[in-house]
Amino acid sequence: MSDLAYPLPGSLAFEDAPLRLTVDLEALVENWRTMGRLSGSARAGAVVKTDAYGLGVEDCGEALHDAGARDFFVMTAPEGATLRAVAPEARIFVLSGVWPGTEQIFFENDLVPVIASYEQLTHWMAVLADYGPYPCALQVDTGFNRLGLTVEEALELAEDASLPQAFSPVLLMSHLMCGDTPGAPENAEQLARFRVITEAFEGIEASLAATGGIALGADYHFDLTRPGISLYGATGGAPIPAPLRTVATAEARILQVREAKAGEAVSYGASQRLHRDSRLAVAFAGYGDGFSRGFSGGNILQRQDGSPSGRAWFDGHLLPVVGRVTMDTSIFDVTDLPPGAIRAGDYIQLFGPERPIAEVAASAGTIEYDLLTALGLRYERLYLRGESF
Ligand SMILES: *Cc1c(COP(=O)(O)O)cnc(C)c1O
Repeated sequence: MSDLAYPLPGSLAFEDAPLRLTVDLEALVENWRTMGRLSGSARAGAVVKTDAYGLGVEDCGEALHDAGARDFFVMTAPEGATLRAVAPEARIFVLSGVWPGTEQIFFENDLVPVIASYEQLTHWMAVLADYGPYPCALQVDTGFNRLGLTVEEALELAEDASLPQAFSPVLLMSHLMCGDTPGAPENAEQLARFRVITEAFEGIEASLAATGGIALGADYHFDLTRPGISLYGATGGAPIPAPLRTVATAEARILQVREAKAGEAVSYGASQRLHRDSRLAVAFAGYGDGFSRGFSGGNILQRQDGSPSGRAWFDGHLLPVVGRVTMDTSIFDVTDLPPGAIRAGDYIQLFGPERPIAEVAASAGTIEYDLLTALGLRYERLYLRGESF
């Protein structure tokens, strides 16, 4: 046991923790290989930003690196430095680019900034004037209106004969708005704009497809793909033509089982009343643990349409949330289970093999990405390592 103070991870043994997250690294690696196969002749990179979508950049990054992944994408330079320690052979791209004051982290950890605006480009050129040659990636905005040089800026750059020798882009990137929707006309529009860029920068590798884009087919693959959510066992709503394995299982301990009478109210705001005598199980999982308030059974803004509340799995039963989810706890209706079937100390599955994460996310009106990255610090984590590494 470590000497970290609760609630930081490592403060409790996995078996003793009220919240447990199991991460199957073998499934993660298999999903990466699946996305690699679906990427055709392109290499599959690995997007491990936001602490590997909440599942831990060190363990996930190391497993993917051991399995042969060599192109990684993180959001921040410190995240890249953390990854570098476990992924010595990797090329690590930092999606938020380089900001004044952070250059040293890039140089010391061999991180590649993704230049995503004209200001960043100008700053980077000034840095290189002192430092000398150093790789970067260029992000071009082909319609998303988020990050990237405009198409016009990128084309000007491609023609600019006065660029310093030290400026050495190694990757052209863009990102699709509707990659999860094969029928969306925006995909072909963005593809056409990106083609103009790749032709202007001949000889530089290109990358357009994230998880959804990989499923759009070979036209979208270019040299390198950037799967993220699919590595962690979710499709992000894209029609992935191959099964993905479940990577993350989240479980919460039942703290108390109590009897309540018909007509009584449950939780904040008394926004849900029981229509029958009920047995209620109180679980250690609240919105502070990423168990979104959108799972509430009671009347909250997200649920004014009367849609059903979130549900957790226990021993073959789906247990609905009753009343509002609170910061640390949620209350489940277990009336339909035999008396004594669920007790304090038991664990319910919030998502995992019995409770597909896509369904769980949808029931809170959100997406798998949101659910995973919101998990918070109170989960103790168990990393399953298969025999393959
Ligand atoms: C998050 C992100 C990805 C990965 O997207 P998924 O849908 O999770 O596969 C790829 N590229 C960029 C630029 C991103 O921001």
